[in-house]
Amino acid sequence: MAGEAQADCLFCKIIAGEVPATVVRETDTTYAFRDINPQAPTHVLVIPKVHYADAATLAAAEPQITADLLREAGEVAAEEKLESYRLVFNTGSGAGQTVFHAHAHILGGRGMQWPPG
Ligand code: AMP
Ligand code: ZN
Repeated sequence: MAGEAQADCLFCKIIAGEVPATVVRETDTTYAFRDINPQAPTHVLVIPKVHYADAATLAAAEPQITADLLREAGEVAAEEKLESYRLVFNTGSGAGQTVFHAHAHILGGRGMQWPPG
């Protein structure tokens, strides 16, 4: 069924507590934890508890949960005292997506370049 946990998905395993993570915030619909390979002084991932491959697929199926995810990203940034931050949804392997469970990267605590690499 759409949105169901996938046995072979790393982030579904993190939500289930089968893989450890450093949790920052949790709501009924979202989970936020520190990236294991941080690319900035603050690097937190926010994921929906339901499984969808990427942000656009999530948004098409679950607009309310997508809104929850974006709000939570803002809450994490506020708790981490980030005045500026970058919110990234890598979509597709060509763009650097390696985990195919929708997730927002919150990156902050250093200067950022534009355009990104
Ligand atoms: P992406 O490349 O956009 O799919 O992002 C996946 C992110 O998950 C990468 O930044 C990884 O460093 C991160 N990651 C992979 N395994 C773990 C883990 N066990 N705990 C926390 N973050 C992870
Ligand atoms: Zn998943």
